[in-house]
Amino acid sequence: MGTSPGASGDFINKHLNKKNIEVNAYFSIIMPDTWTPMFDLTDSNKIKNTLEKSTEEIKNIIPKIKNKENGNFMDKKKSYLISKIGYILVYNRGMRKTKNFGASNDCVSCGKCEKSCPINAIKIIDNRPRWIKKKCLACLRCLHRCPNFAIQYGTNTIKHGQYLNPYVDIE
Ligand code: SF4
Ligand code: SF4
Repeated sequence: MGTSPGASGDFINKHLNKKNIEVNAYFSIIMPDTWTPMFDLTDSNKIKNTLEKSTEEIKNIIPKIKNKENGNFMDKKKSYLISKIGYILVYNRGMRKTKNFGASNDCVSCGKCEKSCPINAIKIIDNRPRWIKKKCLACLRCLHRCPNFAIQYGTNTIKHGQYLNPYVDIE
């Protein structure tokens, strides 16, 4: 999570329950918040500190998993009801709209955004990325992986920078 895991534990548990799977233990780790329409990722020292703390958090979680401790160890979680309302009214009706996205003239038509999108919401047409679905996951993977920082979401992301986890090496 960046600032709060919301009720992600409850959401996951409800989905898995439908497949007769019960979640026994929940953990949360604070990471740099990549929702850059709101959060600023331009302070490299702050990012470094957050990553160092997250490494410590992971070290504390590992023995709990090894010992098969049960419980909800998530910090700063929100109520299911509030999160569900936020999901419907804020995320689903607003944040997910792809009309929030655009690409600047810095685009070099590399196609990485199209390949990176987990739900195929982007297609390169006439050498430019086009959002071909009305809604997407709003994960911002396309924005953060663009080699030229050409993709923006709203007006704030240009000021807030890009971020890729330095420990994760995926294309
Ligand atoms: S990843 Fe960036 S540079 Fe490459 S096609 Fe998409 S917007 Fe253009
Ligand atoms: S934000 Fe995520 S889901 Fe939406 S277009 Fe970009 S990569 Fe695809």
